[in-house]
Amino acid sequence: SQGTLLITGGAGYIGSHTVKHLLAQGERLVVLDNLVFGHREALPLDQVTFIHGDMSDAELVDQIFCDHQPEAVLHFAAYAYVGESVTDPLKYYRNNLAAPLVLLEAMQRHGCRRFIFSSTCATYGNPVHVPMDESHPQAPVNPYGASKWMLERVLRDCDHAWGLKSVFLRYFNASGCDPEGQIGEDHDPETHLIPRILMAAAGEIADITVFGTDYPTPDGTCIRDYIHVNDLASAHALALGYLRGGGSTEAVNLGTGRGFSVNEIIQTAQAVTGKSIPVSYGPRRAGDPPELICQPAKAKALLGWEAQHQDPREHIQSAWNWMTGPKKGHYAE
Ligand code: UDP
Repeated sequence: SQGTLLITGGAGYIGSHTVKHLLAQGERLVVLDNLVFGHREALPLDQVTFIHGDMSDAELVDQIFCDHQPEAVLHFAAYAYVGESVTDPLKYYRNNLAAPLVLLEAMQRHGCRRFIFSSTCATYGNPVHVPMDESHPQAPVNPYGASKWMLERVLRDCDHAWGLKSVFLRYFNASGCDPEGQIGEDHDPETHLIPRILMAAAGEIADITVFGTDYPTPDGTCIRDYIHVNDLASAHALALGYLRGGGSTEAVNLGTGRGFSVNEIIQTAQAVTGKSIPVSYGPRRAGDPPELICQPAKAKALLGWEAQHQDPREHIQSAWNWMTGPKKGHYAE
């Protein structure tokens, strides 16, 4: 452990799993979260300094830098509903692009020059080839992906101007939960495939609707690369070590390199849960490419990272443990 780390959005799904991982490594953490989507209960409040507030609050952010002098920022705080970003783009550009500028201004003023950014494969847009490596053209097809892509550009420009070193971690489909069951995925509304399948298995919703059965894939349903949230957490820790070691600004894809169709995930969930899961078949969802698969070689070469949870059964089992555990898949707040 070295200096203090500032974690924005540390009370959210991926942020809270990364907080747990970094604490286990002995890191000292300050978490800033506005709790719009995050959950106070997802944080061990006896082990982190938690600040309930917004990264667009310049006075607050400046105070955090004065009080804690963070050595690096891990930036998770963002909105992530693709469909909403299409109907309300300004909300996404405000939260995902404009708000972090305030944070970056504070970093520049205080001489903090390490940034780990939760980016996304949505910055690539529709794949021109799979698996996708980091040199795949970036042509986002919705404001969510565009907002992340634009912040990548901002970060590169900050490197050029004042030496900010960033790692853009481009996540594929984050899924699964901490196997110990203390923290998990609790979105409201929940739109993601695996939690919705499990909600159908638990009888919380009537069925799981498969969005499109006429894709040019072997079974006609979309193929995605499901990356376990704890593998994302370990990648953040390795990216931090890379920057501490003097690493330069780089983009790094995070996925397993293997794809599974929506139908395969549903079948796996039936097997894991032992429940028969009611399925209905609907039209395609706007903006869904047929296949997204990561080429993760750079993560291995640059960071020494590899996905430990390759089998979607682990993702589904851990998510099912969380859904059927004491918290029933929901934080109390
Ligand atoms: N999907 C589905 N039914 C649902 C939710 C998702 O068929 O209720 C499909 C979706 O079309 C996509 C895949 O599952 O092909 C993963 O979607 P998710 O929203 O989990 O992640 P995304 O790929 O949008 O990041």
